[in-house]
Amino acid sequence: MRYHARRMVRILVTNDDGIYSEGLRKLADACLRIDGVEVVIVAPDREQSAASHALTLNRPLRMLKLRENEYIVDGTPADCVNLAVLKLMRDDRPTLVVSGINFGPNLGDDVTYSGTISAAFEGALLDVPSIAFSTLVGEGFSFERCAEFAEKLIRWALDHHRDPHIILNVNFPVEFSGVRVARLGNRIYAGDILERADPRGRTYYWIGGGKPTWRPGEDTDFEAVEEGCIAITPLHLDLTHHESIPRLKSLEDLLGHAAKG
Ligand code: MN
Repeated sequence: MRYHARRMVRILVTNDDGIYSEGLRKLADACLRIDGVEVVIVAPDREQSAASHALTLNRPLRMLKLRENEYIVDGTPADCVNLAVLKLMRDDRPTLVVSGINFGPNLGDDVTYSGTISAAFEGALLDVPSIAFSTLVGEGFSFERCAEFAEKLIRWALDHHRDPHIILNVNFPVEFSGVRVARLGNRIYAGDILERADPRGRTYYWIGGGKPTWRPGEDTDFEAVEEGCIAITPLHLDLTHHESIPRLKSLEDLLGHAAKG
C-alpha cells in the first residue's frame, strides 16, 4: 500500500506590482511564518498595476524559475495564477491564493481595474479561496505592519475561509487601529486627464491624474480606511444585478417578436 502523507498546506503568493515589490516579499514572509505551510511565489516579472483580469492569449508566455518555489512570468497577474494553478501546482493545488500587498489602495469602484484583485478572482475561478491585500501609502506606512495583520488573517482563512467563490478584499490605511467589514464605496472620478506635449511636439495623455475622492456612505471601505480601520470586503464575480431581473422581465414579451426571424 502506498503511503499518503497528510496534504501540505500550500499558499500561492502573487501580486501586480511585480517580483521586486517589497509588499510581495513581506506577504510571502508572513505566510512562511505559519507552521506547516509551503509558499510558492509566482509573480509578474514587471509591474502590471491596473492590468485588471487580462489573460495573455496572443503570444507565448514564459515562466522562469528564480529559485526554489519562486517563479516569474512575463504576463499579467491572472496569467500567473492561471499558470501556477493549472500547470506548476497542478498535482498539488494551492490551499489559498494571496495577492499583494499592493502599493496603493484598491477600494470601491477601482476594484474592477485592479490586477491585485483580479489575481484573487482568478484563484476564485479556479476554485481556490483567495485574498487580496492593498495598502494606502503615505508618511509612516509600513508593509511590515500590514504583513503582521495579513499573517493573522491568513491563519484564520486557512481554517474558515473555505468558499472559493467569495474573495476577501483587504485594504490597510496608513495607520490602523481596528477592523471593519465593509461594502464597496463609490469613487468620484474627477475626469482629470493630463494633456502634454512630448519632446517632439506630439500630444500625449495621462489617465488617472487628480486626487481621488468618494461619495460619503455608511459602511463603505472608503469610510473604514478614512476612520483608521482595516477594511475587509467580501467580493464575488457574479455581476448580475438580481433586483433588475423582475423589472426587465417585460422585455421578453415586449421585444420577443423582434428576435423572431
Ligand atoms: Mn499594483
